Amino acid sequence: MAQINLQNVNKSFGPGVPLAVNDLTLTIEDGEFLVLLGPSGCGKTTTLRMIAGLERQTTGDIRIGERVVNDLRPGDRDIAFVFQFYALYPHLSVRDNIAFPLKAQNLPTEEVNRRVMDVAERLRITHILKSNPGRLPGGEQQRVALGRAMVRQPQAFLMDEPLTNLDASLRADMRVELKHLQHTLGTTMVYVTHDQIEAMSMSHRIAVMDRGVLQQVDTPLNIYRHPQTLFVATFIGSPPMNIVHGRMVGARFVAGDGQFWVELPPAARQYTQHDKRVSFGIRAEDITVGAPGGAGMAGNVVVREPLGDETVYVVSVAGKTLTAKTPPRIRFNPGENVSVKLDPAAIHLFDGDSGRALLPEGWSKHV
Ligand code: ATP
Repeated sequence: MAQINLQNVNKSFGPGVPLAVNDLTLTIEDGEFLVLLGPSGCGKTTTLRMIAGLERQTTGDIRIGERVVNDLRPGDRDIAFVFQFYALYPHLSVRDNIAFPLKAQNLPTEEVNRRVMDVAERLRITHILKSNPGRLPGGEQQRVALGRAMVRQPQAFLMDEPLTNLDASLRADMRVELKHLQHTLGTTMVYVTHDQIEAMSMSHRIAVMDRGVLQQVDTPLNIYRHPQTLFVATFIGSPPMNIVHGRMVGARFVAGDGQFWVELPPAARQYTQHDKRVSFGIRAEDITVGAPGGAGMAGNVVVREPLGDETVYVVSVAGKTLTAKTPPRIRFNPGENVSVKLDPAAIHLFDGDSGRALLPEGWSKHV
């Protein structure tokens, strides 16, 4: 097990093309499950491949444990890579597939047998050790691929979208298993996905990337509750955070022709100035929809989505559209007038130019 450290790492795929990875500094702690998350093309796979040694960084240093591994071949980095595709050897049995990485090490047969058995028991695949992997369902093939990675007892696992090819219910099961497995093995894990549910549910921390740039690295709940950039705020969460673009007029956030405005709570005012361009954000669960004439702004229901455990409303408020989540027993019909109240302690403000969050963590303790 080992810490992994990237220091000012850049990756260029050629002149005139934006950097695939731009000045990335990131430490993955020993035993940590870190997820690299972001949209397609944000640089997460390139980052993982540089850690593995499958791609050479253009500048910067990568350390695994105490060693700078810049010049080490993948096979000398003591890490195991699990790809999106299972890449099992079809002509070998499950047992021989798992044992394969140990063959090159010339270990005694008893040692190989013991390690294969140990891994197979942990993954609950002892009953298929004699099977041919090509005939197994996707979930079992995935376990065999994991077994082959685990048997080497590497310093770290690197995984690139390993669950993509599985159906939804199997993916949910494998999420639980992988998390449990990483917890019991205690091996450092770097896991690439574009799926925020995987990231939120499995990781100790998430590193969110956009266009090659690390946006934020934090615990799942902090990423959700305290996004540091507009990108993170809108990328994480379903539905995404409501965002309204506008500017400050005194202590008010004002949008469009001035119809939509929100008076900032006193504790938030010191972080913006009059006339500053800002984006206002609030999550759907921090908006209360009630009977017309109640506290808050006047709105009108556009769409109602009953989801069972909650109901999502899209409401039109002063020329803007907001999405709210309510308990399922609250029921309004499309076209009905409602009142829409925003929780003042749950608002977010982002700089209109840089997209950086303006309100520091903890500001709302004084609301
Ligand atoms: P995806 O989920 O689609 O794989 P990603 O976040 O993993 O996306 P990367 O695959 O790391 O993104 O790609 C980052 C950028 O680098 C993209 O613009 C991509 O087109 C570019 N890129 C990646 N590999 C190469 C390559 N071998 N040659 C040229 N450009 C590349």
